Amino acid sequence: MLKLACEFLKLSPEIYQRFREPERIVKVNFPVKMDNGKTQIFTGYRSQHNNALGPYKGGLRFSPMVDEQEVKNLSAWMTWKCAVADIPFGGGKGGVIVDTKKLSKTELERLSRAFVRAIAEMIGPEKDVPAPDMYTTPKIMDWMVDEYTKLAPRTVLKDTQGLSLATQTSVTLATFTGKSLNNGGSEGRTEATGLGGVYILEALAKKKKLIPAKTKIAVQGIGNVGEYFARHAEKLGFKIVAMSDSQSGIYNASGLDTETVMSYKQINGSLKNFPGVKAISNAQLLILKNIDVLVPAAIEEVINKKNADKINAKYVIEMANGPTTAEADKILEKKKVLVIPDILANSGGVTVSYFEWYQNMHNEKWTKDEVLAKLKPKLVKAFNEIFKIVESKKVSMRLSAYAIAIKRVLTAEKNNALK
Ligand code: NAD
Repeated sequence: MLKLACEFLKLSPEIYQRFREPERIVKVNFPVKMDNGKTQIFTGYRSQHNNALGPYKGGLRFSPMVDEQEVKNLSAWMTWKCAVADIPFGGGKGGVIVDTKKLSKTELERLSRAFVRAIAEMIGPEKDVPAPDMYTTPKIMDWMVDEYTKLAPRTVLKDTQGLSLATQTSVTLATFTGKSLNNGGSEGRTEATGLGGVYILEALAKKKKLIPAKTKIAVQGIGNVGEYFARHAEKLGFKIVAMSDSQSGIYNASGLDTETVMSYKQINGSLKNFPGVKAISNAQLLILKNIDVLVPAAIEEVINKKNADKINAKYVIEMANGPTTAEADKILEKKKVLVIPDILANSGGVTVSYFEWYQNMHNEKWTKDEVLAKLKPKLVKAFNEIFKIVESKKVSMRLSAYAIAIKRVLTAEKNNALK
């Protein structure tokens, strides 16, 4: 898509080559004391793709699957996501190769702290701002902030001399987002991604004159993102007819009640044997007939060349990261299915992360209503900008989103060079 968007913008191949690679990637090997008294060496990465728009921004994942190429790709993705959302952040990503299920809580804490010490020189509120990602949590961010604050005299505070102690504290807090609420985290972050997707759905409905009560939606994955998407879409009157978790799915043509489904899942651990509905598989959910909007909100590459041709929805809202493969994307475009790309659809999360950073930097604390009220206009604006190019140039939403993002980064690079 990057290549296609560079060609669409008639940019030189050198620009494409440059954006393919991060500006910097650091590999660290660091020791962690295990509960048995032995020391184990772990490997981690931090990739800084582009910071023309602002500090590098992106999650830290703890997973056995972490590798250098994946971290590089994900950091580039963050550059385009932040640029589409028009927030003053660049793109970064990091991770440690580790299976957290094999660690005790104290080992996890020591690993988190040791990783921060290993990358401390690279990060900072105006340099690079990490966040939670796969298998990292607000608690882990809290440990990281604490460790980073201990290192502050050597790292951050040399840049903040003359600031009051309170301001210094909030500056170190701003080095990480996704912290817990009582440690500088932002209200509204938990539901931001799902709700952000619903703001996009609303904007789409307005353009396409969809009547909520007649618009049938299938949501794959009812984790953090899928649950809040379903809850808020239902509140606006949209009809959620299918939902699934990793094990099974349910379908009811006349609509499901999200609250009932979520309480059932909480009590029973899955959606299996949910009463009064048709049981379906995850594969069936994707190709349901009689649905208008398909919302993949679980994992990547679920829409691929094997099933793309069988998709019956007219709209796909990509709440998961990378749910559609490049081959499937072409098939859907041919079928005239409108795909709202992940870098727009799920950018509500990173936008509220920006709000968290902003509150920390300015020593402010916004209410949930304030946060969500600021989120909506940003996402609606991003949707409308992208849609304008879709209509005028007859290109996909994904191509349009990438083109806007690349242009923004190039303009910022030009402006920075003039400073
Ligand atoms: P989560 O772990 O809370 O939920 C994932 C859900 O998907 C669960 O209901 C799980 O049962 C289900 N699932 C897992 N494997 C599945 C499979 N093979 N088929 C169908 N369902 C399956 O995760 P989340 O935070 O809701 O994230 C979901 C997606 O959204 C991911 O792609 C993530 O990268 C992306 N995303 C999340 C955020 C955020 O703020 N949480 C922000 C941007 C993007």
